[in-house]
Amino acid sequence: MGPPDLCDRHSCLKPAPVRFLLYTHFGMSNVNQTETENCKITRMPVGFVEANCYVVELEGNTCFIIDPGAEARKILALVSSLSCVGILCTHTHLDHIGAMAKVAKGTGAPIFLTSEQRQILSGSSVSGFAARLGAFLVSKLRSDEHKECGNKLDFGGFEISVLKTPGHTSDSISFLCEAGVFTGDLLFRHGVGGTYLKGSSLEELRHSVVTEIFPLGDDTIVFPGHGPETTIGEERRNNPFL
Ligand SMILES: [Zn+2]
Repeated sequence: MGPPDLCDRHSCLKPAPVRFLLYTHFGMSNVNQTETENCKITRMPVGFVEANCYVVELEGNTCFIIDPGAEARKILALVSSLSCVGILCTHTHLDHIGAMAKVAKGTGAPIFLTSEQRQILSGSSVSGFAARLGAFLVSKLRSDEHKECGNKLDFGGFEISVLKTPGHTSDSISFLCEAGVFTGDLLFRHGVGGTYLKGSSLEELRHSVVTEIFPLGDDTIVFPGHGPETTIGEERRNNPFL
């Protein structure tokens, strides 16, 4: 049985097929680029645990950033010639948000947070050390630098669907756009995010993958929070954790 037609729910998947993929190895280690019709995605592992920070470059010299976890200077250098229109995070673990405040200040871009992520980072819903430390770092930002991350985001006509995908953390979300899906620590190539911290649940993680990610179709590219890109088909067939 083929994947269900999700066009109504995920309109951003509708027309633009990936025209071609271009993997470029820069001088920097492990930096990859994926290019599609309307965007160019640069994946840059940052910090000690090499969390993937993604810069998605759009038409008109704009970009948005997903998971600026560390090494703000490196991230800011990468976007120095671009106008950054937003900063997103897949979840509030420190390795994904550690450089968020500095990158927001350096670019002037707003941070988009779900209400749950905002609660965790403001300390009103604290779940574990990583979130508490993250809250300390991000709380330096003024509240008017945060914007609501609802079910949809639109950056100059470039649409992003925000999928609720709890399991690794209760506030985990995934971002779906024409290029693929950014899963954070929900799903890796042949792996899944840890479920040993407070607020984690392997059962819930599997449920999120099966109900929110698998239906996107086998050819959909997965941009994970750690490690290289993969596809939904590859993970459906060969991920030992699912
Ligand atoms: Zn995490």
